[in-house]
Amino acid sequence: MRISVIGTGYVGLVTGACLAGYGNHVTCVDVDQEKIASLNQDRVPFFEPGLEEIIKSNRTAGRLHFTTSLEEGIKGSKVCFITVGTPSDVDGSADLQYVLQVAREIGRHMEDPMVVVTKSTVPVGTADKVRSAVAEELKARGGQINFFVASNPEFLREGAAVSDFMNPDRVVIGTDSKEAEEILKELYSFLPPEKVLCMDIRSSEMTKYAANALLATKISFMNEMARICELVGADVERVRLGIGSDSRIGYAFISPGCGYGGSCFPKDVRALRHTALRHGYSPRILQAVEDVNEAQKHLIFQKVLRHFGQDISGLTFAIWGLSFKPNTSDMREASSLVLIQDLLGAGASVRVHDPKAMEEAKHILAGRNGVTFVEDQYEALKGTSALALVTEWDMYKQPDFQRIKEEMLSPVIFDGRNQYSPNEMRRLGFTYYGIGRPNA
Ligand code: NAD
Repeated sequence: MRISVIGTGYVGLVTGACLAGYGNHVTCVDVDQEKIASLNQDRVPFFEPGLEEIIKSNRTAGRLHFTTSLEEGIKGSKVCFITVGTPSDVDGSADLQYVLQVAREIGRHMEDPMVVVTKSTVPVGTADKVRSAVAEELKARGGQINFFVASNPEFLREGAAVSDFMNPDRVVIGTDSKEAEEILKELYSFLPPEKVLCMDIRSSEMTKYAANALLATKISFMNEMARICELVGADVERVRLGIGSDSRIGYAFISPGCGYGGSCFPKDVRALRHTALRHGYSPRILQAVEDVNEAQKHLIFQKVLRHFGQDISGLTFAIWGLSFKPNTSDMREASSLVLIQDLLGAGASVRVHDPKAMEEAKHILAGRNGVTFVEDQYEALKGTSALALVTEWDMYKQPDFQRIKEEMLSPVIFDGRNQYSPNEMRRLGFTYYGIGRPNA
């Protein structure tokens, strides 16, 4: 099938590359000239395991193309995916300007019948707006081309995006026409049919928000349990095992930590809350999920103040892990940024390390005094008063604790992801603070 993908970020690039891998002819479009230029040299502008190889092989096979011209990109497409960003607007709603801009441009340049599929995470009712935007532009140029709109939200996880796309738990397709549904079912025919769930457009759009809101709720719930554990002297890691073993609950997304970040959970919970409020309903659970998470992102800093006292000016802290989670270079709404902000605000300095997100972090923190980027994880500890582990990359899981102690001024660890054993840390002579653990 001839496919176009508009917006070549995490979702668009993975979608385009993987669909090309199944034999389709895919053109990916982006307004970012630098991004397209580097993709045309097989260079992926962010870290995503396995992606570069797929891009390379499909470009070599002539099935995958990159361009900045939407007009050229959608020529002959049977399906056109919109995969641009939908960031938070100032009021918390999803900003649809990029989606609708693309829809208008599709209307301006469409030459053949096609299915316009929104894969970006968009509020319920967006497909209607996309339909109107395409139709208006078509009408303005006197065009008479049949087109369909559809919703096909993406559930991939950064860091495991390629395997998630190729072997998803399910694919959700929202359409209001049998013809569009059949075309999309054909496109996803590489999956077992029971994994392809067809529904109406609004339910499909809502499914994505409900999924992310539930996952964020699990995390905030567990972070709240961690807070209570600290107060009553229980160990949240034991509690986690105790409840995760219940098949009605499960282990996924119940690890406590220093808050969730990323390009999806924070903005999607906000957008869903905004949608509910706009319809006159005040969503109490979603509000609590956000509040707990916001507070959790400041928790390590509070523990730092509790240990060192209110005046930490002049002290230096090491931070291991900057990306919002392991196996990605994505820094959007990362907990590390909140901790860095808090520490710098209190007059402290930081020495930071991350295996993949340093470039992105340098870009975001450009011009901030007091931040030193260090290429070696142990070098980052030099002259620091404490280490804060913020992102649980594998390389931080079994470090050389002797070396850590030698490099630091004082052996203090704030473990924002409960990666280390409190007993072992104490045995090795560290003052150790986890999340939701006795004496944390
Ligand atoms: P991203 O910011 O990585 O990529 C968006 C791309 O769209 C950018 O490269 C940008 O230059 C491009 N773009 C913007 N306007 C354009 C235009 N008019 N024409 C062509 N290109 C344009 O975003 P992302 O992380 O891939 O997310 C895209 C959507 O998918 C969002 O709605 C997001 O919520 C959703 N989503 C993301 C993930 C994820 O893990 N990142 C997972 C599921 C769903």
